[in-house]
Amino acid sequence: MIPFNKPFLTGKEKVYLNEVLEAGKFSGNGPFAQKCSAFFRDHFGFTDNYLTTSCTDALEMSALLCNIQPGDEVILPSYTFVSTANAFLLRGANLVFADSNPTHPNISAAHLSTLITPKTKAVVIVHYAGMACDMEAIQNILAGKNIFLIEDAAQGVDSYYNSQPLGSLGDFGAFSFHETKNIQCGEGGLLAVNNKKFSERAAVIWEKGTDRAAFLQGKVSEYGWKDIGSSFYPSELNAAFLFAQLEAYKNITTKRISDWSYYDTLLKNIKDSGTFSFPVIESYMHHNAHHYFFSCSNKKQRDALIMFLQEKEIRATFHYLPLHQSEYFSQQQQQITLPNAERFGDTLIRLPLFNSITKTEIEKTVSAIHDFIRE
Ligand SMILES: *Cc1c(COP(=O)(O)O)cnc(C)c1O
Repeated sequence: MIPFNKPFLTGKEKVYLNEVLEAGKFSGNGPFAQKCSAFFRDHFGFTDNYLTTSCTDALEMSALLCNIQPGDEVILPSYTFVSTANAFLLRGANLVFADSNPTHPNISAAHLSTLITPKTKAVVIVHYAGMACDMEAIQNILAGKNIFLIEDAAQGVDSYYNSQPLGSLGDFGAFSFHETKNIQCGEGGLLAVNNKKFSERAAVIWEKGTDRAAFLQGKVSEYGWKDIGSSFYPSELNAAFLFAQLEAYKNITTKRISDWSYYDTLLKNIKDSGTFSFPVIESYMHHNAHHYFFSCSNKKQRDALIMFLQEKEIRATFHYLPLHQSEYFSQQQQQITLPNAERFGDTLIRLPLFNSITKTEIEKTVSAIHDFIRE
């Protein structure tokens, strides 16, 4: 069986976990957590970053920092994971869903620009499959407006917009280290705080609303309750695991790009034939090969292809159900139509791609897709 994903282990996880077990200190913000944080500072330039238990948590931290109040409007793509929405809904925001581009699931800047009102407090963008959104267009739309920009870069570790790391372009960038992501520790995340105005408050919110960080740095003689906050950071066990992965990040990305490109080469005939639609990869998308995906002509064909591959022991999968069509959202808001997001919801398929996938497995998958087309 070729699974859709198989979490990668570098081999160092056990070594570092053992170090933590021997040291006997397990709570958060310990030596490995600080090493992870320093790694993101040194390798990606995130001078202010906070390790969290998930990307969901990182997004929730960003919503607290933006001081989202009931009635504030937050614009986000409909074609995304629920956490992108929940983080802001929890603060009472009115969610305003934007459509995807016709040729890529990323948010349509053109549609986004029509949704901005005086009540817009924040825009959340998602770099789908680690492929950068059209930052020039988005930054032009937001220029001179008092609107926060949050990047849901959950899939975007070691991905770039031209040469700028994803997660460094907005006021905040949120990452995920869930086991389905390129770099993983089971469950984990990180918030990059790029807008320096928020540095101090971020540290307090991260520390359950206390100024413990300042206390640990010797800046205050005791620490206390300063603001709202929550328990956002992971245990030292997760951090130790994550550090093993971070040390290997270049190799992880290189292997994935090589497998992604192999799919792309083998699928070239199908691409040229126009049987399926392949995403347009813009020159500014220097991506980390998080997913290999394309779109079928309709839902029936997509579901049939998934079933066909499944019968051959190959696990391909669909992705998001657009949030505006979800049971939860459609019950409480008036119906809207977002044709591109709906089409990706119906037709997008993702092929198996994980660190230990072999060339033979990729060849087998592509040859099964050829069989499907022939039948
Ligand atoms: C995975 C993912 C999340 C959630 O990440 P967690 O770490 O599981 O909370 C949020 N947004 C997007 C786009 C994702 O792919």
